Amino acid sequence: MPGLREINGLRTKLCHERKHIKLMAGKSESKLAYEFAEGYKDFLNKAKTEREAVAFILDRAVQAGFKNFDCSGTYKAGEKVFCVNRNKNIVLAIIGKNGVKNGARIVVSHIDSPRLDLKPHPLYESNELAMLKTNYYGGIKKYQWVALPLALHGTVALQNGEVLDITAGEFDDDFCFCITDLLPHLAREQMEKIMLKAIVGEDLNVLVGSVPLEKGKGSDLVKLGILNILNQKYGLVEEDLSFAEFEIVPSIKARDVGFDKSLIGGYGHDDRCCAYPAFMAAMSAPMPDETCVIMFVDKEETGSDGNTGMKSSFLKHFIADLSACEGVKGRHVFQKSKCISADVDSAFDPTFSCQYEPLNSAYINKGVVLTKYTGGGGKYSASDASVEFLGEIRKIFEKEKIIWQTGGMGKVDAGSGGTVAKYLANLDMDVIDLGIPVLSMHAPFEVISKLDIHEMFKALKAFIK
Ligand code: MN
Ligand code: MN
Repeated sequence: MPGLREINGLRTKLCHERKHIKLMAGKSESKLAYEFAEGYKDFLNKAKTEREAVAFILDRAVQAGFKNFDCSGTYKAGEKVFCVNRNKNIVLAIIGKNGVKNGARIVVSHIDSPRLDLKPHPLYESNELAMLKTNYYGGIKKYQWVALPLALHGTVALQNGEVLDITAGEFDDDFCFCITDLLPHLAREQMEKIMLKAIVGEDLNVLVGSVPLEKGKGSDLVKLGILNILNQKYGLVEEDLSFAEFEIVPSIKARDVGFDKSLIGGYGHDDRCCAYPAFMAAMSAPMPDETCVIMFVDKEETGSDGNTGMKSSFLKHFIADLSACEGVKGRHVFQKSKCISADVDSAFDPTFSCQYEPLNSAYINKGVVLTKYTGGGGKYSASDASVEFLGEIRKIFEKEKIIWQTGGMGKVDAGSGGTVAKYLANLDMDVIDLGIPVLSMHAPFEVISKLDIHEMFKALKAFIK
């Protein structure tokens, strides 16, 4: 291959080549990455919903000395605070040596993932099978959610004012749920449909039982049997299902993928593979120069609307309160703040290579992905990071030897995707998207690399230090 030959050392000097992390980092680096992955898999298994992610983060933050933020308090450098928003959105802050007067270092990732939500009146019986009606949440390929083990995670507001968390069908249980699919023998008509229509939203009905209530009389005895179990197990009645948030997620444990165990397969890498490194970076931040703020946000997958999404005023008010503690104005802090929108990027998939532009795609095992802008259809709806801020990130990466690559969402006009970066930019901050590449994004079983997620941890740690 003559094209790869060195010509008087000019290639090394002039060209930028992406290399496998393994070739750039030492053996000990791989070992650290594989160890880091064990903690991450535990997080994936324990935090499949935004509420569970908040509980996980809050629990460990409190253990690490984070205190509930008091807007009338005063804080010294090194003190750590948290603020929880409606159990679905949490922010951690570590007060820096300089406080917020020079701006804060902010990292935002999201902790919601595509899934199926139960409808407000979900339970019904049809032909002596008990089923739950769902409405999908986020961008899913519906055909991927049939014929696969599913679990139910949720929270119910009971009539007596109590709030109850329920998980059923997970790997610790001896049962799960599923959505049925049509057998190939009878599926000629279905298979001729376009993918979008082969399984439609109203087909996503979750099978939850099949035995009629013993000695029962009248109709819908299977449904009655299931209600009886729900009542015995959790004290629920049918009406309670209308006062609940139930999420249907894959009943799949995070697992190593490959003979070399170099990859992790699991549900919800988008965006837990950025949330976990962000959380771990916060846990290991000793005493940052500038106050660092690590936020975990909900509703990214449905457009960031609502009071727990990035478009809410939660971060704006938190920064304003934090600034007021130091006698500074929030808007002046935002102006000087630097922010990483930590979200995943699509990994180049050789099987579907024609949808990617090879020069500007992100590759597995080639490090964290810097995405200057997202959006589509002429960079529409994009936050485009300024070159000055890119330069600052470059300096940090160079100093800390962070292995990075550039990315984007596939070919121009192949489709589009966005993150919360634009809403953060609207707050008058410098923002850049940084993430790691994901294969099969938004599928019930997504894939990332252990070396990449560890690199993300190093990058975020360097950014907030
Ligand atoms: Mn995402
Ligand atoms: Mn997503």
